[in-house]
Amino acid sequence: MTACIFVFWAIIHPVHSHSAFVVLLLPSRSSSLYSAFSRHPEFRRSEAYVMAATKTTKCLVVGAGPVGALSALYAARRGWDVEVYELRGDLRDESITPLNFTKSINLALSERGIHAMRHSGSEKLVDAILDETIPMYGRMIHGEGKTGNFTEESQQYDVHGRYIHAVDRANLNKLLLDEVEALPNVKLHFNHKLTGADYIQKKAWFEQQVARKPQTADGAQAQQSQLDQRAKEIEIDFDLILGCDGAHSSVRYHMMKFVRMNYEQTYIDTLWCEFTIPPATPSFPSQRTSPSSKDGFATSPNHLHIWPNSDKMFIAIPSLDKSFTCTLFAPASTFAALESQPETISAFFRENFPGASELIGEDRLRKQFATNPHLPLISIKCHPHHFTSTGVILGDAAHAMVPFYGQGMNAGLEDVRVLFQHLDAHPATAEGRRAGLETYTAERAADAHTINDLALANYWEMHAGVRSPLYLLRKQVEEFLSDKLPSTGFATQYSRVSFSNQRYSEVAETVARQGRILVGGMLGSVVVPALGWAAWWVWRYQNASRTGVAATKGFAGLGGVFERVGRWFT
Ligand SMILES: Cc1cc2nc3c(=O)[nH]c(=O)nc-3n(C[C@H](O)[C@H](O)[C@H](O)COP(=O)(O)OP(=O)(O)OC[C@H]3O[C@@H](n4cnc5c(N)ncnc54)[C@H](O)[C@@H]3O)c2cc1C
Repeated sequence: MTACIFVFWAIIHPVHSHSAFVVLLLPSRSSSLYSAFSRHPEFRRSEAYVMAATKTTKCLVVGAGPVGALSALYAARRGWDVEVYELRGDLRDESITPLNFTKSINLALSERGIHAMRHSGSEKLVDAILDETIPMYGRMIHGEGKTGNFTEESQQYDVHGRYIHAVDRANLNKLLLDEVEALPNVKLHFNHKLTGADYIQKKAWFEQQVARKPQTADGAQAQQSQLDQRAKEIEIDFDLILGCDGAHSSVRYHMMKFVRMNYEQTYIDTLWCEFTIPPATPSFPSQRTSPSSKDGFATSPNHLHIWPNSDKMFIAIPSLDKSFTCTLFAPASTFAALESQPETISAFFRENFPGASELIGEDRLRKQFATNPHLPLISIKCHPHHFTSTGVILGDAAHAMVPFYGQGMNAGLEDVRVLFQHLDAHPATAEGRRAGLETYTAERAADAHTINDLALANYWEMHAGVRSPLYLLRKQVEEFLSDKLPSTGFATQYSRVSFSNQRYSEVAETVARQGRILVGGMLGSVVVPALGWAAWWVWRYQNASRTGVAATKGFAGLGGVFERVGRWFT
């Protein structure tokens, strides 16, 4: 008893000076003594308590994509016991191809993703990732001139010269996994599929996937015994599951059985297919290059290339090997027509995306359309993103979005930073975690919904807006104000989304407010003075002729008002 009182005293008095000592004496978490102490508010704030609780937090990260790998890093840096379970094999193994993507796909990495990785505590990691990216300063809009010549028009992303980065998704993922694997409190389990989770009993079940044997030379599958082929299931205990298992998340599916989760998924009427523009080297002599080609790239390496069209678009992002990862986005009916008549693909490209098939090469174009998958685009919104203190979903699992803002992965990485900011603001206990997850959902679900909507709206901007005079006028005015009158706080929506860490929901509100000010300003500076002048001239005419009828006298009175308004503005 004396010992207990002493320990208790040591804990609640100058906490920091005693914490190491207290950790040594702290009763086990399961003991009744611990539970009695843990109700005391001073005790709950003590470093010793946090350390003791932290040490034993067992965290399962499901999915080792970019978001899962960064989540594991954040969790491990807090001293948690982290186990990562990934359905597929280790992507660092050359033979593994990521789901839905070819081996190497390039994505746009921007401020939110970079900022989240910097906050992981691995400064060198970010530098290593950025070292292997290519800056993209703007969009290059491709088209056709009146004489049938191919045209290129560069549109800078940001008046302050900021840029986004073309990054190899697989490479980014590998660097994150290397960093995670180097930490002693992380275990990586590949070929493990989550098949069930009980968020109250805190148990999860995983199937150990049977690694496929390589094909034999004659194409026959190597013989495996029935026993070998049957997946084994294992049961794992946890304190917290971080569900980073992508759009078709199992973590989310099982969480829905425990929490009243609102869920909405939408497939847009657009499919996508990947293509590659090869490097401009003598090994591809038939390939044409564009005027902006340089350094062995078939077209400008420092732009995100867009071939806009009414309901379809083709884009290209540069890669370090001087090729471009390209994507065709088009309605499902267009894909169906091309699939039924594959020989028309070159003519289709010539008609809709002038110059693109010349950069790819017609044979490769046909082959890639036939070989690469034609995939749907899904948009997911759900709420809440968590269940009590035991489960939370992040990344595509919580908010898969269409890729037109280049924010899917960036938003997922930002989820991780925001989540741990909320968890860090509370004690590292089950109750603290529960409070942290609640405030996380409250903040993040709204932002996830907003970026989903902005991403959908950006499809219009990319395939039509980039040529709309009104869109370009607004961009110019906002950039002018941002550059010359920064105190107005004006900035384009694109720069707020891609070059800042402002909450997505605040971005949407600020941009809507800016829009109202601009419209008001345009009305004030153009329409009102014009009306004022017109009314003034009518009034003068009426006065001069002195033949006005009653109705025109009334109008003349109004004219007087407009005259004064007109004079204020001119
Ligand atoms: C065409 C296209 C272009 C894009 N361009 C961009 C861009 O420019 N910029 C950008 O920021 N984003 C972009 N995105 C979005 C981006 O690819 C995703 O948002 C990002 O990959 C999501 O990462 P994630 O880790 O949440 O999920 P994923 O990358 O899907 O990873 C989920 C992981 O979980 C694993 N898994 C699944 N089920 C289980 C299970 N039951 N058990 C265990 N493991 C499981 C999967 O194998 C996978 O490794 C694009 C997407 C597409 C389709």
